[in-house]
Amino acid sequence: MDVKFCSSCGQEMETRDVDGTLRRACTQCSFVHWGNYSIGVGALVVKDDKMLLVRRAQEPGKGYWTNPGGYIEQLEPIEETIRREVAEECGVEAVVRGVVALRDQPRSIHNLYVAFSMDYVSGDPTPDGVEVDAAGFYSLQEMETMNVAPFTQWLVDVALRGQSEGLLLDDKPIIPLNGYGLFRV
Ligand SMILES: [Zn+2]
Repeated sequence: MDVKFCSSCGQEMETRDVDGTLRRACTQCSFVHWGNYSIGVGALVVKDDKMLLVRRAQEPGKGYWTNPGGYIEQLEPIEETIRREVAEECGVEAVVRGVVALRDQPRSIHNLYVAFSMDYVSGDPTPDGVEVDAAGFYSLQEMETMNVAPFTQWLVDVALRGQSEGLLLDDKPIIPLNGYGLFRV
């Protein structure tokens, strides 16, 4: 649906050619509505060839086993968001190693999902009882009899059978680049 009012100044929007593309833009200020986007993050935590999974207690996906994850926050670095989500959902401490998969989903809210490989630090999986009602480390064989969500099955394959380390977190870049989360080959 077309955006009617400017989210910056509240005045009416119009459809206008912006650098060759028709977009909704404000008639009074410089605001342009570029689109609707969301970014999800997911954790692939492997310990002794078993992957950390949680069972969703809420829709969407209630009853399915998935990897822990969530949506990014405006001012929180993504590697901190995923660390926090894992800790909140199932009480496991883990730290980001790198980015090992992306999922692009162009739709009315264009979603990008970033999957992180994470190193287990501590904690026994314990469900938070709100978002998830079960949690644990599971082998491929154990997953055969579990209701694992299709996309999670794909991520399990990445986590347990991936052929590359992916993009690794660069916390000591060759020059100071403050305010960036950096991942590189
Ligand atoms: Zn405006």
